[in-house]
Amino acid sequence: MSYGNLETLYRQVIMDHYKNPRNKGLKSGEDYYQVHLKNPTCGDDLTLQIKVKNNYITEVHHDGSGCSISMSAASVMSETIMGLKIEDAKKIIDNYLHMVKGEAYDAEIDMGDAIVYQGVSQFPARFKCATIAWNALDKVLEKHKVPDEK
Ligand code: ZN
Repeated sequence: MSYGNLETLYRQVIMDHYKNPRNKGLKSGEDYYQVHLKNPTCGDDLTLQIKVKNNYITEVHHDGSGCSISMSAASVMSETIMGLKIEDAKKIIDNYLHMVKGEAYDAEIDMGDAIVYQGVSQFPARFKCATIAWNALDKVLEKHKVPDEK
Protein backbone atom coordinates (compact mmCIF):
# COMPACT_ATOMS: atom_id res chain seq x y z
CA MET A 1 0.00 0.00 0.00
CA SER A 2 2.09 2.89 -1.23
CA TYR A 3 -0.52 5.10 -2.87
CA GLY A 4 -0.86 7.43 0.12
CA ASN A 5 -3.78 9.82 -0.23
CA LEU A 6 -4.93 8.30 -3.48
CA GLU A 7 -5.18 4.91 -1.81
CA THR A 8 -7.25 6.44 1.00
CA LEU A 9 -9.55 8.10 -1.51
CA TYR A 10 -9.99 4.84 -3.42
CA ARG A 11 -10.82 2.98 -0.23
CA GLN A 12 -13.42 5.62 0.64
CA VAL A 13 -15.09 5.22 -2.75
CA ILE A 14 -15.19 1.43 -2.32
CA MET A 15 -16.65 1.65 1.20
CA ASP A 16 -19.23 4.21 0.05
CA HIS A 17 -20.46 1.89 -2.71
CA TYR A 18 -20.41 -1.06 -0.30
CA LYS A 19 -22.48 0.72 2.34
CA ASN A 20 -24.76 2.57 -0.10
CA PRO A 21 -24.97 0.35 -3.17
CA ARG A 22 -26.44 1.96 -6.28
CA ASN A 23 -29.04 0.10 -8.37
CA LYS A 24 -29.28 -2.76 -5.86
CA GLY A 25 -32.39 -4.94 -5.93
CA LEU A 26 -33.82 -7.01 -8.77
CA LYS A 27 -36.89 -6.19 -10.85
CA SER A 28 -39.50 -8.52 -12.22
CA GLY A 29 -40.41 -8.51 -15.86
CA GLU A 30 -39.74 -10.50 -18.98
CA ASP A 31 -37.66 -7.98 -20.83
CA TYR A 32 -34.65 -8.25 -18.50
CA TYR A 33 -31.55 -10.28 -19.27
CA GLN A 34 -30.22 -11.91 -16.13
CA VAL A 35 -27.22 -13.95 -14.96
CA HIS A 36 -26.17 -15.37 -11.61
CA LEU A 37 -22.51 -15.89 -10.74
CA LYS A 38 -20.70 -17.22 -7.69
CA ASN A 39 -17.15 -16.93 -6.48
CA PRO A 40 -16.77 -19.95 -4.19
CA THR A 41 -13.32 -18.99 -2.94
CA CYS A 42 -14.73 -15.91 -1.23
CA GLY A 43 -18.46 -16.66 -1.02
CA ASP A 44 -19.46 -13.85 -3.35
CA ASP A 45 -22.85 -14.39 -4.94
CA LEU A 46 -24.19 -11.97 -7.52
CA THR A 47 -27.20 -11.68 -9.79
CA LEU A 48 -27.11 -9.06 -12.51
CA GLN A 49 -30.03 -7.83 -14.56
CA ILE A 50 -30.00 -5.45 -17.49
CA LYS A 51 -32.45 -4.02 -19.94
CA VAL A 52 -31.32 -3.11 -23.47
CA LYS A 53 -33.02 -0.81 -25.96
CA ASN A 54 -31.63 -0.12 -29.44
CA ASN A 55 -28.20 -1.36 -28.38
CA TYR A 56 -28.09 0.88 -25.32
CA ILE A 57 -28.09 -0.39 -21.73
CA THR A 58 -31.08 1.39 -20.25
CA GLU A 59 -31.32 -0.35 -16.87
CA VAL A 60 -28.90 -2.16 -14.58
CA HIS A 61 -29.89 -3.96 -11.37
CA HIS A 62 -27.89 -6.25 -9.14
CA ASP A 63 -28.36 -8.18 -5.94
CA GLY A 64 -26.36 -10.59 -3.86
CA SER A 65 -24.02 -10.96 -0.95
CA GLY A 66 -20.28 -11.06 -0.50
CA CYS A 67 -17.21 -9.11 0.45
CA SER A 68 -16.81 -5.35 0.20
CA ILE A 69 -14.76 -5.61 -2.99
CA SER A 70 -17.29 -7.69 -4.94
CA MET A 71 -20.39 -5.88 -3.71
CA SER A 72 -18.97 -2.39 -4.17
CA ALA A 73 -17.65 -3.34 -7.62
CA ALA A 74 -21.19 -4.38 -8.66
CA SER A 75 -22.50 -0.99 -7.57
CA VAL A 76 -19.67 0.87 -9.33
CA MET A 77 -20.12 -1.21 -12.48
CA SER A 78 -23.88 -0.51 -12.55
CA GLU A 79 -23.24 3.24 -12.47
CA THR A 80 -20.36 3.10 -14.94
CA ILE A 81 -22.23 1.28 -17.70
CA MET A 82 -25.71 2.77 -17.27
CA GLY A 83 -26.86 4.37 -20.51
CA LEU A 84 -23.90 3.14 -22.54
CA LYS A 85 -23.92 1.53 -25.95
CA ILE A 86 -23.21 -2.20 -25.70
CA GLU A 87 -19.97 -1.94 -27.68
CA ASP A 88 -18.71 0.81 -25.38
CA ALA A 89 -19.59 -1.24 -22.30
CA LYS A 90 -17.59 -4.15 -23.77
CA LYS A 91 -14.57 -1.91 -24.25
CA ILE A 92 -14.76 -0.96 -20.58
CA ILE A 93 -15.04 -4.62 -19.52
CA ASP A 94 -11.85 -5.50 -21.44
CA ASN A 95 -10.01 -2.46 -20.17
CA TYR A 96 -11.06 -3.08 -16.57
CA LEU A 97 -9.94 -6.72 -16.68
CA HIS A 98 -6.53 -5.67 -17.99
CA MET A 99 -6.26 -3.06 -15.25
CA VAL A 100 -7.04 -5.35 -12.31
CA LYS A 101 -4.70 -8.02 -13.72
CA GLY A 102 -1.94 -5.44 -13.66
CA GLU A 103 -1.67 -5.47 -17.46
CA ALA A 104 -1.44 -2.47 -19.76
CA TYR A 105 -4.77 -0.68 -20.11
CA ASP A 106 -6.05 2.40 -21.89
CA ALA A 107 -6.27 5.29 -19.41
CA GLU A 108 -8.16 7.32 -22.04
CA ILE A 109 -11.23 5.13 -21.70
CA ASP A 110 -13.58 6.63 -19.12
CA MET A 111 -14.26 3.93 -16.54
CA GLY A 112 -15.81 6.20 -13.90
CA ASP A 113 -15.24 5.07 -10.33
CA ALA A 114 -14.11 1.65 -11.60
CA ILE A 115 -10.62 3.12 -11.76
CA VAL A 116 -10.38 2.76 -7.95
CA TYR A 117 -9.95 -1.02 -8.33
CA GLN A 118 -6.54 -0.68 -9.99
CA GLY A 119 -4.92 -1.47 -6.61
CA VAL A 120 -6.41 -4.99 -6.83
CA SER A 121 -3.60 -5.88 -9.24
CA GLN A 122 -1.35 -6.06 -6.17
CA PHE A 123 -3.69 -8.58 -4.51
CA PRO A 124 -4.25 -11.46 -6.95
CA ALA A 125 -6.37 -13.30 -4.37
CA ARG A 126 -9.00 -10.55 -4.72
CA PHE A 127 -9.07 -10.68 -8.51
CA LYS A 128 -12.25 -12.77 -8.65
CA CYS A 129 -13.93 -10.44 -6.15
CA ALA A 130 -13.15 -7.40 -8.29
CA THR A 131 -14.25 -9.04 -11.54
CA ILE A 132 -17.40 -11.04 -10.69
CA ALA A 133 -19.71 -8.12 -11.56
CA TRP A 134 -17.85 -7.41 -14.79
CA ASN A 135 -17.85 -11.09 -15.79
CA ALA A 136 -21.57 -11.15 -15.10
CA LEU A 137 -21.97 -8.13 -17.36
CA ASP A 138 -19.98 -9.84 -20.10
CA LYS A 139 -22.20 -12.94 -19.82
CA VAL A 140 -25.46 -11.02 -19.74
CA LEU A 141 -24.44 -9.08 -22.86
CA GLU A 142 -23.74 -12.41 -24.59
CA LYS A 143 -27.27 -13.51 -23.68
CA HIS A 144 -28.60 -10.37 -25.25
CA LYS A 145 -27.02 -11.44 -28.55
CA VAL A 146 -29.16 -14.57 -28.48
CA PRO A 147 -32.64 -13.26 -27.64
CA ASP A 148 -34.23 -16.72 -27.57
CA GLU A 149 -32.11 -17.72 -24.61
CA LYS A 150 -33.00 -14.83 -22.40
ZN1 ZN B 1 -14.95 -11.50 -2.46
